[in-house]
Amino acid sequence: MTGGGSAARASVAATAPVRPGVKSGRLGTATVGMLGGTFDPIHVGHLALARSAQEQLGLDLVLVVPAGRPPHKRDQRIAPAADRLAMVELAVAGEPGLDVSRIEIDRPGPSFTIDTAEALLSEGAAAGRPIELTIILSAESFADLPTWHEPDRLLRLARIAVAPRPGHPAPTPDRLDPRLSAYADRIDVLDGPHLDVSATDIRGRVAAGQSIAGLVPPPVAAYIEAHHLYHAPSHRKDPT
Ligand code: ATP
Repeated sequence: MTGGGSAARASVAATAPVRPGVKSGRLGTATVGMLGGTFDPIHVGHLALARSAQEQLGLDLVLVVPAGRPPHKRDQRIAPAADRLAMVELAVAGEPGLDVSRIEIDRPGPSFTIDTAEALLSEGAAAGRPIELTIILSAESFADLPTWHEPDRLLRLARIAVAPRPGHPAPTPDRLDPRLSAYADRIDVLDGPHLDVSATDIRGRVAAGQSIAGLVPPPVAAYIEAHHLYHAPSHRKDPT
């Protein structure tokens, strides 16, 4: 399900040296990945993405960060933040090297990644354990990155790890948006995962009474069932 070792990693900057992986941040520096998303619900594609990044980049920790108010899904109905957070907590429980952060759920206003990155970096510095931050996303989200809030500042603060997503063009150096070319050596291309799973499909399956076995961890499937999520029309708009 997950990709290969750190040698499989390639930078979109053809000339950039391959960073040594495996928990090799500067002495006292933690290498932390941030996987943000709506997680409505979290599924095996998200978990495989987190593990791929962790293995291929040798990250100490991957933080899964559910968005409180995703700026790009303002017009969509999404499940309440409390339910999405609870499902993420169930999914990462017992997963070594994965943790959950509720930082975006607790922060009022739209969930901009730049604000989260700044807060995580400040927290690490204040705790005496500086972090090197990598934003983890797939090709689909990466294509939108130039339209995000303050993408230049984000790329100065954090590295980006971009994974393939079935159905979307592969992220390759020649497809790098010209607006990001100055940051090519801050962007790493992951060689997996290759799982054709989406939360949209899962919600559709639940609404249609179809099985979601194998698409979400069993405790998440049980939560969806117990809380009657995604059974239209009770898939209500997040009131937060
Ligand atoms: P939806 O179908 O509701 O849009 P989603 O399945 O894309 O949801 P998100 O929570 O929006 O899930 O995704 C969070 C991040 O995980 C995004 O960067 C997204 O591109 C990535 N991602 C989601 N599913 C996969 C997958 N199967 N493989 C690789 N990356 C994925």
